Amino acid sequence: MIRPLFLLLLLLATAACGRQEKKSDPPASPGQEMAAGITEAALLAHVNHMTAKELAGRKIGSPGEKAAAAYVEKHLKAAGFTPVGDAMIVPVLRPGLTGTLNVVGVKRGPSDRVVLVGAHLDHLGERDGKLHPGADDNASGVAALLEICRELSTLPLKKTLVCVAFGGEEAGLVGSRAFVRDATVDPAKIDRMVNLDMLGHPLFESMFGQSKPDGLGVIVNRIPEAELDGIIALAKAQGVEIMSLPEIWIQKLQPGFAYDSMPFNEKDVATLFFSSGLHADYHRPTDTVDRLAPRQLRNRAVAITKIVAHLAQ
Ligand SMILES: [Zn+2]
Repeated sequence: MIRPLFLLLLLLATAACGRQEKKSDPPASPGQEMAAGITEAALLAHVNHMTAKELAGRKIGSPGEKAAAAYVEKHLKAAGFTPVGDAMIVPVLRPGLTGTLNVVGVKRGPSDRVVLVGAHLDHLGERDGKLHPGADDNASGVAALLEICRELSTLPLKKTLVCVAFGGEEAGLVGSRAFVRDATVDPAKIDRMVNLDMLGHPLFESMFGQSKPDGLGVIVNRIPEAELDGIIALAKAQGVEIMSLPEIWIQKLQPGFAYDSMPFNEKDVATLFFSSGLHADYHRPTDTVDRLAPRQLRNRAVAITKIVAHLAQ
């Protein structure tokens, strides 16, 4: 995510405190057994690859960003995903500006209605001569994306599943804006967009005395209350405590806050943006793999697998 402010987390905390938990059983989901195949080791292997020196912080337009895209493409292809057009890697070219790319994989279901899961693969590259590896921002989200999509590829989903790794997020949502603008997948066909950005630290870690290691924030837009209750119950069954915040609060109070679900919101697509939020390592050279909480990352990925499986029925 880019340009967030500390107030956001205070808002999230306030919203979480204000939300009454409802006692409802989680909706039936076909992801119950399959998601058990997501392991901490597999997630950390993805993060280790994305944060390796050779990828040099995955800056927009860099060979490192391209290498990250090739890695995502390899894994989506191995899981049986196909391109939406000629190729899975879709170039994003802006006249006179740095180009980037999106990686787009599709698994078609009986219905052409789409559930889209996305995570940005770029980060900041080097600044002041120091590598910014971006382990949480957003190698953690890409790792979750790859494992979630691999698990979902084995399930008989009714809707069409689209998995996307966006490029150029840190430079101003370049990849996701192009995806929507060019209708790489027609926004009118997308029922739900699920954005994953920073999933690897305890929730509220940057707030003194308020850390919730097993918490997970979600910013929602156009998600009905009953559906959100079901999502919260599914996550809770996996040991993940969801704290929700309506998008409209962010748009009114934090207009500088930007993330990849926003271009979809602007086309009236309902969105869920999952994140464990800010911390002291955010956009610093210390955003490294050893600072991640593997158990939480794994539980969140399993919970989101079940949520997406439910949304795609
Ligand atoms: Zn990010």
